[in-house]
Amino acid sequence: MKIYEKAPAKINLMLDVLHKRPDGFHEVEMVMTMIDLADRLEMSEQRRDTIIITSQAGYIPLDEKNLAFQAARLIKERYDVKKGVHIHLDKKIPVAAGLAGGSSDAAATLRGLNRLWELNIPQQELLALGAELGSDVPFCVTGGTALATGRGEVLTPIPNPPQCWVIVAKPPINVSTAEVYGRLRSEQIQHHPSAERMVEALAQGSFQLMCQSLGNVLEEVTLKMHPEVQQLKEGMLKLGADGALMSGSGPTVFGLVSKESKVARIYNGLRGFCKEVYAVRLLT
Ligand code: ATP
Repeated sequence: MKIYEKAPAKINLMLDVLHKRPDGFHEVEMVMTMIDLADRLEMSEQRRDTIIITSQAGYIPLDEKNLAFQAARLIKERYDVKKGVHIHLDKKIPVAAGLAGGSSDAAATLRGLNRLWELNIPQQELLALGAELGSDVPFCVTGGTALATGRGEVLTPIPNPPQCWVIVAKPPINVSTAEVYGRLRSEQIQHHPSAERMVEALAQGSFQLMCQSLGNVLEEVTLKMHPEVQQLKEGMLKLGADGALMSGSGPTVFGLVSKESKVARIYNGLRGFCKEVYAVRLLT
């Protein structure tokens, strides 16, 4: 038996860090939504009781460091499953980009194996398993649009944003999430974006208010380390995006665009200095 599961990328419409907790994690407030840029997972039953991960992408780990492997191992252990699985990851989401590609693969593995092995694990339990794998995994399990608090695992569903185009550009640099959080001095943050304002914008279905409410405190760290990310954001706005923001800890920058007639110009303009550019829709 073989099944397929889609693992979409997430973007942060806002990301605020409140403080560092005694357990080392940061207390955050994030508004997250999904875009139609997705990995595709093919899961097939195996005769032998092993987990095999393959991928066409040559630059991700295929052993126990892979988050899909970790998700499969966790489900097998917790539910005492004595079956094997081969998971092929057709990667489309740029890696280490701030788009939660690995987390989404882990979430898709939890959803998919629940179906493949007919385990009937309720959503709440899948979310708890997800939280063990990473802070962004629970959101990737549910999808939709959510306000995430705690270390990102406490989710409140909120209305989806008004439909628009999302131009996603990933500059060819690597950013480590751990390093960005490590360099952040939460007590020195100058400007905190407002989660309340973004939630209100979505409740009103106002594209304009949503663009005005975009904000990510991690930009302060990543943009200083990598001025080319700042240039990319400025380029996105100059070319006509209605709003632009770095996603997660970066380096990916996304632009929101309401008019389809502007999309080709922005896309082509960015392709001039960035190889990885995508024009997609929100997954609403
Ligand atoms: P986040 O926004 O959650 O910080 P990200 O988009 O920055 O995530 P990922 O694409 O998830 O980053 O990759 C981060 C690291 O995780 C990579 O360097 C890679 O080695 C490792 N990794 C483990 N499993 C996967 C996977 N299934 N897909 C991509 N990367 C993976």
